[in-house]
Amino acid sequence: MTVKPKKVLIIGANFAGLTAAIKLPKTCDVTVIDPSPHFEWTPGIHEILSGVKTPQGLRLNRSDIITHAGHRFVQDSVTHLDVRRRRVTTAGGDILPFDAAIVAVGGISNNYHIPGVDSHTWPFRSVAESLAIEKRMEALQHTHSPMQVVVVGGGISGVEALGELLRRYRHRPEISFAMVESGNQLMPGFPKMIDADLRRLCVEHRVSFHTGESVARVTPKMVWLASGKRLPSALTIWAAGQAAPPLLREAKLIRPPHTWAAVHQTLQSRYSTSIFVVGDAAALPKPVSKQAFNAIDMGALAAQNVLRWLADEDLKDFSPPSKPLLVTFGDLQTYLVAGKTVLANKTLAGAKEGVYQLFMAQTAPQDGLQAVPGALRRLRKSWKELVVPGLQSIKDFRAAPECRTLKRL
Ligand SMILES: Cc1cc2nc3c(=O)[nH]c(=O)nc-3n(C[C@H](O)[C@H](O)[C@H](O)COP(=O)(O)OP(=O)(O)OC[C@H]3O[C@@H](n4cnc5c(N)ncnc54)[C@H](O)[C@@H]3O)c2cc1C
Repeated sequence: MTVKPKKVLIIGANFAGLTAAIKLPKTCDVTVIDPSPHFEWTPGIHEILSGVKTPQGLRLNRSDIITHAGHRFVQDSVTHLDVRRRRVTTAGGDILPFDAAIVAVGGISNNYHIPGVDSHTWPFRSVAESLAIEKRMEALQHTHSPMQVVVVGGGISGVEALGELLRRYRHRPEISFAMVESGNQLMPGFPKMIDADLRRLCVEHRVSFHTGESVARVTPKMVWLASGKRLPSALTIWAAGQAAPPLLREAKLIRPPHTWAAVHQTLQSRYSTSIFVVGDAAALPKPVSKQAFNAIDMGALAAQNVLRWLADEDLKDFSPPSKPLLVTFGDLQTYLVAGKTVLANKTLAGAKEGVYQLFMAQTAPQDGLQAVPGALRRLRKSWKELVVPGLQSIKDFRAAPECRTLKRL
C-alpha cells in the first residue's frame, strides 16, 4: 500500500514563502498560493522612483519558480484560514485542505486610522505602488509650478524613497520635499549619526525634516500635523509602517497583547501546531527586525521544521542571521549598519546592488538559456545606472582627501 504524501500549503510567496517552497523537496505535495504572478524584490522599489530600476527588473515569474521546484502554484488569495479544520478558502471560491501550512503573508500599509490617509496618500510597499508614484511625479513635474512632495515616515523605506526622489529631482528648483517622522530622529532605532548625516546631505536640497511630529489628517493638498503645522503637498507618499493582514487576526493566529502572529522560536504558531508563521507576519519570542534576510532564513527553517513536524521529529529553533544592513540615499550616500557601527560611502551602493543581483540570479529558475535574458537585462541596467556612477564617485573620493577612507560616524 502506498502512503499519500502529506499536504503542505504555503500562503504568500515572496521572500519567506518562496524560500520555503524552493527548499521543500519535490516528493512533498506542496501547493503555493499568492494573488500576484510575480515575486517582487521589495528592497529595490525606491529605485523605480528615479528610473534606476524598472518594474521588470525587480520581478520574477512566481509560477516558473514554483513549478521548477516541483510544486503547484495557485494565483489566488486566501480569504479564510480555518485552523481547526485545516483548510483555506480562496477569493476564487476554492477550498484547499492541508496537513501543515506555512503562513508568509507579510504586512500591509498601516494607516493608523488617520483621516485622509487611504484617500489622499500614495502607499509605498510594492512595485505597482512605486510605479504609480513615479508616474504621478512625472505628470506633476511637467506643470513646472512650485510644489512640495511630502514623505510620511522617516524609517528605511521613507529615507530610501526620498533619496531616489532627490537623485532625480534635486536639480529642479521648483520642487521641494518634506519628511515627517513621529520618532525623535530620522531612521529611529538606528545610530543617531545617520540622522545627522542625512540632514547634512540635504542642507542644499530644499528638504525640510519634521521629526517628533505625527500626522493628524491628510487632505488632497495638505498634510496636517498634530502640532498644528500644515505642510502643503502636491503628492503625499505614505511610508509610515506596516500592520498585520486581517486574515491573521480572523484566523486567531494573532491574539492580544500581540499585534503580529505569535510563534515559538521554532516558528510554529503558539495557537496551532500545524501552522508555521514566517517572515514579517511572525512575532518571535525574541523579536527580530522585519527585513528580507530574516524572512528568507525563516522560510528555509520553516520548510525543514514542517517536514520534521510531519515526521514527528524534534523542531529546530530559529537563530537570526547577524547581517549588516545596507541603506541607500539615492546617489548621495549609502550606509552600512552593523550594530552600532555605521560606514557611510556612496560606493557601498554597489554592495547592495550585488546582494540584489545575486538573489535574483539564484532565485530565477536555472533552466539554462531561459534565465539569461533577464539576468543580462538586470546587469546592463545596473552597470549603466549604478556601477559607472559608483566608479565616478571613487574618482571624486580620490580628489577629496578628507573623504578617502570610509567614514566611521
Ligand atoms: C519599501 C521597502 C523597502 C525595504 N527595504 C529593505 C531592505 O533594504 N533590506 C531588507 O532586508 N528588507 C527591506 N524591506 C523589508 C522586506 O521587504 C520585508 O522584510 C520582506 O518583504 C518580508 O518578506 P515576507 O515574505 O515576510 O513578506 P512579503 O515580502 O510582504 O510577502 C508577502 C506575500 O504574501 C502574499 N499575500 C498576502 N496576503 C495573502 C493572502 N491572503 N493570500 C495569499 N497570499 C497573500 C503577498 O502577495 C506577498 O507576495 C523593505 C520593505 C519595503 C516595503
